[in-house]
Amino acid sequence: MTNPSNPNGLSVTVIGCSGTYSSSESACSSYLVRTSTTTVLIDAGPGSSIELQRQVDLGEIDAIVLSHEHPDHWTEMPSLYHGFRYGVEKMGLAVYGTQGTKVRLDAAAPEATKGTFDWTTIDATSVVDVGDITFTFSETDHPVETLAMRMESGGSAIGYSADTGPAWSPEAFGAPIDLMLYETTLPVELEGQGIPHVSGKEAGERATAAGIRSLILTHVPPGHDAALREREMRAAFAGTIDIAMPGATFSPG
Ligand SMILES: [Zn+2]
Ligand SMILES: [Zn+2]
Repeated sequence: MTNPSNPNGLSVTVIGCSGTYSSSESACSSYLVRTSTTTVLIDAGPGSSIELQRQVDLGEIDAIVLSHEHPDHWTEMPSLYHGFRYGVEKMGLAVYGTQGTKVRLDAAAPEATKGTFDWTTIDATSVVDVGDITFTFSETDHPVETLAMRMESGGSAIGYSADTGPAWSPEAFGAPIDLMLYETTLPVELEGQGIPHVSGKEAGERATAAGIRSLILTHVPPGHDAALREREMRAAFAGTIDIAMPGATFSPG
């Protein structure tokens, strides 16, 4: 049944959610954002093409949007290039990312952006429409140019923090977000040491300030305790919290 507050069926499916490097349970950052008519891959962390192809045929992907050049967010792209070029033989797939990500992709797979991927360099001022999803961006607090994303369709919006330190908040979008993937990389003991990531508490505080109703806790490194991060987030956030896991799908309420 169609949710009246989410008429296009906007949703996000977790493909990979491990932070920093892949775990035995999950690839690194990678998510499918979909409506009834549009399918977009956001980030392509190492190992992500396995779960991705469990969820969707590569040929159904309308575009790929990459947040930044760190390896845990894009290094499945050379493998996906082979999938699109030699597998589904789909040319001209729209790919959006920062200039730094383009430099690294070109070094790793020089032919990828010469026909198979139709590359567009984006920054925090960009507005990208893919089908019925509109993407806007905000530069986060991270050592390289990193773009958080707000993805709106049919009056609902999903957010993705990408990677960020505590100096960035989703309030920077200046627009409401219903459901947000928020990186929660740090144990609270490591807050305040200049590490460019946030704890569950810091993520929860910033989501509360931005009026977000639901959080998906993600980018937890292998060996870290996601349940502990959730408890720390819950102390700072009164809304719904789910822990990301591969294959899980979430929709704005
Ligand atoms: Zn990362
Ligand atoms: Zn990063």
